[in-house]
Amino acid sequence: MARIVMKFGGTSVANLDRIRHVAGLVAAEAEAGNEVAVVVSAMSGETNRLVAFVDALDADSNDGGAIEDEYDHIVASGEQVTSGLLAIALRRRGLKARSWLGWQIPLMTDFAYSKARISGIQSPAMDESLKSGTIGVVAGFQGITSDNRISTLGRGGSDTSAVAIAVALKADRCDIYTDVDGIYTTDPRIVKEARRLDRISFEEMLELASLGAKVLQTRSVELAMNNDLPIRVLTSMAEDGTPNPGTLVCNEVNDMEERVVSGVAYSRDEAQITLLALKDQPGMVAKVTAAMAQANVIVDMIVQGISRADNAANLTFTVGSRDLEKAIAALEAAKDEIGFEAIKSDDNVSKVSVVGIGMRSHTGVAQTMFEALADRNINVEVIATSEIKISVLIDSEYTELAVRALHAAFELEKA
Ligand code: ASP
Ligand code: MG
Repeated sequence: MARIVMKFGGTSVANLDRIRHVAGLVAAEAEAGNEVAVVVSAMSGETNRLVAFVDALDADSNDGGAIEDEYDHIVASGEQVTSGLLAIALRRRGLKARSWLGWQIPLMTDFAYSKARISGIQSPAMDESLKSGTIGVVAGFQGITSDNRISTLGRGGSDTSAVAIAVALKADRCDIYTDVDGIYTTDPRIVKEARRLDRISFEEMLELASLGAKVLQTRSVELAMNNDLPIRVLTSMAEDGTPNPGTLVCNEVNDMEERVVSGVAYSRDEAQITLLALKDQPGMVAKVTAAMAQANVIVDMIVQGISRADNAANLTFTVGSRDLEKAIAALEAAKDEIGFEAIKSDDNVSKVSVVGIGMRSHTGVAQTMFEALADRNINVEVIATSEIKISVLIDSEYTELAVRALHAAFELEKA
């Protein structure tokens, strides 16, 4: 007997038939003698629908900021529906089950509405309930602040709910069911030969998730890594009886070292900003990053080009495309303070990255990468590296070409 947490995303609970199917998967684990907690997302599309209501009312007035606490109160409601429906579906099968909302657990968070961080989960009640053989069906994505307001964990946050609950309940396993059958070497919609990985390390998964692979919320991977809780990613769509091994996201194991590169990720949600003719003097980059931090804009890749002749520098950096307007407004406002001549920006850029823990011990990855891009005549605008990844910023028109070229160059189609 084990204690397991199963998580089902929006497409897995998209309608009543899918919910009935999920009830079957949960029933199988419970009937095998396991204690089961299930974490569900809202039906797919539902959270977007709720967000649109809030946006529409926000647009009625332009007196600035969103009304954040009520946003969370509203968008958390999709998960209330699916948790109740799944509990009913399980009870109709003759199983013991009950639904749990974030506040009933309680899953405590800070006050950062719409992207709240979990501060603690202590649930003797849920622990007892699971021990008594009752399946707990938890509304993902939501929590409660210390002054009793509903909070949410950021889009895609029920992955993080699932991992946090698995850690708090000392679960033996955390299985994340989704609409793909595991983690792939790259997006199979772009590269037909993309391959499902049997295992991937936490660190690689963390990079892939934050570099654009959309399967797991980045925070959930971070939390799993910090608590050394392996996650299995698998599909809820498999026909009964077909094998469904998924991908195990776990600590490094030795055979992973043989693989230099594990995956290629891409993100189209990038924008590039260049500040022209900055004074090349100490503190200049700090002023720019301070202006961005104040505007709540995350700066990603940065390069500086210096022209010795006139002692002026150009500074190029990237921000999320959603933040481009906000970033430019903040830079214009700080123009005198920072001291530059002009701003150029470009929204038609993508970031393409190769990730692999083998890079720590193998040389030549950069060379293979840049040659593959050069062979396709793809111009690299900005480069960023870490110990286990290399990212390039390119014209977004070449995103797919670059992903295919890199997947082939590192022979990722081969096991
Ligand atoms: N329903 C929320 C969203 O769409 C949370 C989740 O699905 O993980 O972002
Ligand atoms: Mg998701």
